[in-house]
Amino acid sequence: MGLQVTPDANLIVRVPQKMPLGTIHEMVRQKLPWILRKQRFARENYLPATPRTFTSGEKFLYLGEEYELFVIPGDYGPLVFDGKGFFLREGCVSLGKWLFRDWYREKAVEFLSARVRHYAGMTGARYSRINISNAKGRWGSCSAKGVLNFSWRLVMAPREVVDYVVVHEVVHLEEMNHSKRFWQKVKTLAPDFLRAKRWLEFHHRSLHNGVE
Ligand SMILES: [Zn+2]
Repeated sequence: MGLQVTPDANLIVRVPQKMPLGTIHEMVRQKLPWILRKQRFARENYLPATPRTFTSGEKFLYLGEEYELFVIPGDYGPLVFDGKGFFLREGCVSLGKWLFRDWYREKAVEFLSARVRHYAGMTGARYSRINISNAKGRWGSCSAKGVLNFSWRLVMAPREVVDYVVVHEVVHLEEMNHSKRFWQKVKTLAPDFLRAKRWLEFHHRSLHNGVE
């Protein structure tokens, strides 16, 4: 029997087809404290995806912080971030989705390149290049040829979460598996990696948040 609590706090029970209902109920009852704990955690951390309208007051994530959007008339931008908020030119609201996507992509190139250089410098691992993808739910990957792929959505996550994903892929340059040695190397570079890993499990929806 397999129990799973989804990020939106639903319980999934997987059982063999012929298992009697009474047995299933009994097993679930035994696991109740675990289920309730997982559900409480999920409810406290769950962020539903909200559709975007790109109007003033909407919030956008960058490196784990929320920044407010201001739509204002004028001849600038069309999308400017000043460290405190986003400013979108009024006539460009219909392009909001694309402008944000481009902005995130640009930041992903900058930030992730710097972090990869940092960690690859520490391990001495060689990589051929960094590629920024549009993947949803797959934050990073490492090819056999040493190409490191990251989703631009990753720069919405807190710095330590971004660092964990970078460390994970940089360690894959040398360990192409998830062996004990792999996780030991990850832990050396990112001692708090379990927290980042859990964060990704529960917040992955917020990283898709309307900027499809
Ligand atoms: Zn991996």
